[in-house]
Order: sequence, then structure tokens, then C-alpha cells
Amino acid sequence: MSSQRHRRLDIIPDGFCDAWGGDSVEEALERAERARSSTDHRSFKRCPGCFSVKVRRKPGHKPLPNKKDNFDYKCGECGHHFATPAPSINEIVEREFSELTESLSDASSNANALAAALRRREER
Ligand SMILES: [Zn+2]
Repeated sequence: MSSQRHRRLDIIPDGFCDAWGGDSVEEALERAERARSSTDHRSFKRCPGCFSVKVRRKPGHKPLPNKKDNFDYKCGECGHHFATPAPSINEIVEREFSELTESLSDASSNANALAAALRRREER
């Protein structure tokens, strides 16, 4: 076992093994590492190529002319380089929702205008 692994085991909080199960710290650690992330990926920007959330901004990237990978972002899943990440699921849902609300509001005012016109016609 490496000394790095030992140091990691020393900082395991109480209750970790109970939470993850297993007969040893090692086993609990393996279970925890295999478990799915509980992070909400719906707010993460995505790769425009494969829609993965493994998007990273290249640290200290300075664009150079005539370079093939001359973009600020890279996808950790498919290796695609790009300038602008695709919107997150939350951003897409929000946009769709506001467009839907807008067209419902338009439809509602059209219906009100029609009803008013029909009333005026009946009053004559
Ligand atoms: Zn990708």
C-alpha cells in the first residue's frame, strides 16, 4: 500500500463505513468511488458535440491564429474543442418555458380580442 493511500485512510470521517457499507474502510471507499455522483448535472454547460457535461475550460488558454484547437473549451468525453458550450438542461427548460408562457399569453390576448369583437357585434 502506498503512503498516499495511508494518508487518505487517515482522514476518513467517522460513520463513513456505516454510510457506504462493506467490511473495511477499503471496501467502503471502493463502493463510494463506484457510486454515481449526486451532483445535479442539469445546471452544467454541455459539449455541443456529444452533450456530455465533462466540459472544461482550458486553463490560461490564449487563442493563437491558425491553430486547429484554437478554442477555450475542450470536452473530456469526445475530445471536441469549442468556443461556446451548449446550454445546460436547466437553461433549455427555462427558455422553453418562457417561450411557452409567451405564446400562451399571446393566445390569451387573441382570445380576449375575439371575444370583445363578438360582444360588440352582438350589441349592434
Ligand atoms: Zn463531447
